[in-house]
Amino acid sequence: MEAFGPWRFILAAIFAGFLHFQGSCSSDAAPNYTFMQEATKAPQVSYYDYIIIGGGTAGCPLAATLSQNFRVLLLERGGSPYGNQNITNLATFVDTLKDTSPTSPAQSFVSEDGVVNTRPRVLGGGTCLNAGFYTHADPEFVQKAGLDLDLVNRSYQWVEKVMLFEPQLRQWQSAVRDGLLEVGVLPYNGYTFEHIYGTKVGGTIFDKDNHRHTAVDLLQYANPSDLTVLLHATVHRILFKTKGQSKPAAHGVIFKDAAGNEHRAYLSNETGKGSMGEIIVSAGALGSPQLLMLSGIGPAQHLKSLGIEVLLDQPMVGQGMADNHMNFIVVPSPSPVEISLVQQVGITRLGTYIEAFGRNDFVKFFELTTPTNETTTKTTKSALEIIERLQNAGMIFEKTSGPVSTGYLKLRNRNPDDNPMVTFNYFKEPEDLQRCA
Ligand SMILES: Cc1cc2nc3c(=O)[nH]c(=O)nc-3n(C[C@H](O)[C@H](O)[C@H](O)COP(=O)(O)OP(=O)(O)OC[C@H]3O[C@@H](n4cnc5c(N)ncnc54)[C@H](O)[C@@H]3O)c2cc1C
Repeated sequence: MEAFGPWRFILAAIFAGFLHFQGSCSSDAAPNYTFMQEATKAPQVSYYDYIIIGGGTAGCPLAATLSQNFRVLLLERGGSPYGNQNITNLATFVDTLKDTSPTSPAQSFVSEDGVVNTRPRVLGGGTCLNAGFYTHADPEFVQKAGLDLDLVNRSYQWVEKVMLFEPQLRQWQSAVRDGLLEVGVLPYNGYTFEHIYGTKVGGTIFDKDNHRHTAVDLLQYANPSDLTVLLHATVHRILFKTKGQSKPAAHGVIFKDAAGNEHRAYLSNETGKGSMGEIIVSAGALGSPQLLMLSGIGPAQHLKSLGIEVLLDQPMVGQGMADNHMNFIVVPSPSPVEISLVQQVGITRLGTYIEAFGRNDFVKFFELTTPTNETTTKTTKSALEIIERLQNAGMIFEKTSGPVSTGYLKLRNRNPDDNPMVTFNYFKEPEDLQRCA
């Protein structure tokens, strides 16, 4: 889970891995995509070259790219973000995260460590809920991930053309920038997407009117005649062939629409285009291992305890879960502070990143993100009382680059709509505390 994680790395890596298409033969315009429809309208059985599970930050660009050469089905459990004012407006960033209704684009979840968190449940995934900050990955990271740097650089441009803007720094963000330079987070690198030490202004997915642009906008690159996007399509299980295979091979999915009706989609036997097609799981850091386990791929004992037939005993599914802790201070201001989310970053040589929010509903925000155990609740309560009295304030926060402490995910039950149980083991490794203290 990377709720407040090393965003720049994750986002950039996801895009980099998938995008290579540069042109388009025909296209649909957002938000009136002809290929997007409710899953209730889907046939009971259908066939595609590629089936993508999860229409989030990774799933949307992937579907757009693959549709240039193949027949693609994109299945998303949430609805469309278009027309949802809470998603569109920067000022309602916290309201979207606080909406805990069953149809909310933000599914609230609490980790076994007791930390409140949020999972996207909407086409566009995290780009519909997040703080919208954009920057390129560290080239070293790209190399370690085994990605082609040239392809990665071309992919960045593909994304930037459609959904990236230069933020306008006003009083609060300018003051934070000057403060970072004063304390030695140098040099000042100006407006750049490059990952370099010092202080810099990065890109944002909010335009000059503070309207959010999301990964769904990337679907304008799709070939409309070869893409189907189904909304409120929750995948319950991936179907695997086992007969005559050395290991299970995915060949279809079972998904349910908003009315609870079951549908099946299968891979066509042969795409006829030099590829056998694939089922691609891009259901997020929690949704992906959850779905694999529900489909019989995971630690055998755990699956058996829930009555799930084991297709492949794979103990590593659900392991290595990490969440990036965020340490923050609220700074009272003598004069009004503008509303803003992340616009710049101080990249330190200690492996920490310093960023800032302008005015926001901090009380709601902290209620949303703070641990729920007895002691912290008392401490938090008194802190919130002070913050509530502040007329003007901004927030400065620090995140560490990839926490060393990791945990694991287990299924709570067999319902894909429910959150799995996740333990992040925050600060288990002393190095994490040393770096951020
Ligand atoms: C509050 C917050 C602030 C953040 N700020 C930033 C930021 O400023 N910059 C940045 O780069 N990153 C930020 N991030 C992180 C970033 O949004 C994520 O890293 C990114 O969205 C992950 O992309 P993904 O495609 O892996 O998953 P997601 O974007 O989560 O997409 C997964 C999709 O799969 C769907 N899904 C799950 N299960 C199923 C199923 N069974 N059937 C069908 N569909 C399913 C979900 O509904 C979801 O739409 C932030 C995250 C949060 C929560």
